[in-house]
Amino acid sequence: MNKTPQNMNKDIIHALQHGLPAPQSVGKVLIVGAGIAGLAAAQILLKSGIEVQILEATERFGGRIYTLTDFAKSPVEGGAEEIHGGKTAWADLAEIHQKTLLNTNDYSSLYFLENQLWKENEAYTREDFDEMEDFYDLLEEADFSDTVGKISVAQFLDVIESPPTCRHIIEAWISNSYGASMTDLDARELQTLWKQWTAGEVNFMFENAGYIELLAEVCADALPTIQYAKPISQIEYTENHVCALTPKGEVFEGNALVLTVPLGVLKKQFITFSPPLPAPKTEAIECIGVGAGLKILLKFKESFWDDNVGAIYGNGYISEFYPSAKDDEAILTALVMGDNALYLSNLTEEEAIQTALQELDMMGNNTLASELFEKGTRIDWTVMPFQWGAYSYPSTGSGQARLDLAKALPPLYFAGEATHTEGHIATVHGALETAYRAVHELLGRQG
Ligand SMILES: Cc1cc2nc3c(=O)[nH]c(=O)nc-3n(C[C@H](O)[C@H](O)[C@H](O)COP(=O)(O)OP(=O)(O)OC[C@H]3O[C@@H](n4cnc5c(N)ncnc54)[C@H](O)[C@@H]3O)c2cc1C
Repeated sequence: MNKTPQNMNKDIIHALQHGLPAPQSVGKVLIVGAGIAGLAAAQILLKSGIEVQILEATERFGGRIYTLTDFAKSPVEGGAEEIHGGKTAWADLAEIHQKTLLNTNDYSSLYFLENQLWKENEAYTREDFDEMEDFYDLLEEADFSDTVGKISVAQFLDVIESPPTCRHIIEAWISNSYGASMTDLDARELQTLWKQWTAGEVNFMFENAGYIELLAEVCADALPTIQYAKPISQIEYTENHVCALTPKGEVFEGNALVLTVPLGVLKKQFITFSPPLPAPKTEAIECIGVGAGLKILLKFKESFWDDNVGAIYGNGYISEFYPSAKDDEAILTALVMGDNALYLSNLTEEEAIQTALQELDMMGNNTLASELFEKGTRIDWTVMPFQWGAYSYPSTGSGQARLDLAKALPPLYFAGEATHTEGHIATVHGALETAYRAVHELLGRQG
């Protein structure tokens, strides 16, 4: 569409609020999935005067935006938690809807290095810690033109001789952001994503509201069109007609369909297509990675960390714990992606919680987290039905494959975080941008 990011953000917000010019011939549009991509697509289409029906497999909307309201007094997040970058339509919408946001840069972190917990300013006095940060510049500037095939982030760290004492910190930063272990992430693809990133560098959290609230407000018109417990397992399509079926034989018909299911669902081949999807599409589904990922939420009787702590980086199975941004409750979230998530996913919930507590106890000086522990829960995206993974990650060749995944096959249109082709994968704002792109394609506009 060749727009500047700022203009694109304005266009997205305008489309959500007022729709896009639409030809009368569009007919009825089926939307599969009620995450942000599906809801935003529905919202824009409804505002454009198009009939819409959303088919959602589960009993709730939001998908990977999943606010738990029964774990503590304040809402806690089982999925998306931060607004990544201030230069997106999603960040602008938070402002328009008057959400109070906390800037995560206003907090400082604790780092467990060589069996000791270091405050951020102390950690930076260590030579290895300072040297570790060179990774970002070195990867950004690396010349991969002579590299054939995969070079993983783990291999890249070896090549640049990144200090081994701090590798787990990089692992926490990179694996958690990109949803896979460093051995699976492709360094060249990661470099491309960084170059494409236009969202800004600051992250925000909602101070009082649950993440789901903004979604519900932005896509308010779309919510009544959702039909819940409709897992679509078959899609039949001709030039101007689409049939979506559930395993129970329920049939939904329309003139076009926007598919927003997670890549994990496509990888599992839960949905069969008739005619079958063309080879570039199925190869893309295979090529783009989806990693294991989970959160463990831990509630304590009182906090044992200072108010200004934004994260605690460990070196066990859990590389990152962070306090809830909401109210005064003492809640820590353990965020884990990749192989460590797979390990914790294979434990029972109780064992996974105990592992988290043991790791916190090991890092604590005098305070034992396990003694202050009240309750915990695990939200495991790895095995969650109709997700089967956390988010898509930069696997080898995935940049090109995303173009094939996103490509429209009228009357089928593809949206959702994994279909982002300009660097905003694995984010809420990225999924929103793909909805706008897919609706644009559907309405046949050139932009
Ligand atoms: C643990 C975790 C933390 C995250 N943290 C952040 C963060 O802090 N900031 C950020 O920007 N992003 C974050 N993300 C990523 C972000 O949540 C996603 O990129 C975004 O929400 C994806 O939206 P989507 O609409 O593409 O997919 P989803 O939200 O997954 O929506 C897809 C919908 O399709 C439904 N569905 C699946 N199969 C079928 C079927 N066969 N028939 C009908 N319906 C079906 C699903 O139930 C789901 O509701 C996080 C994700 C996870 C898992």
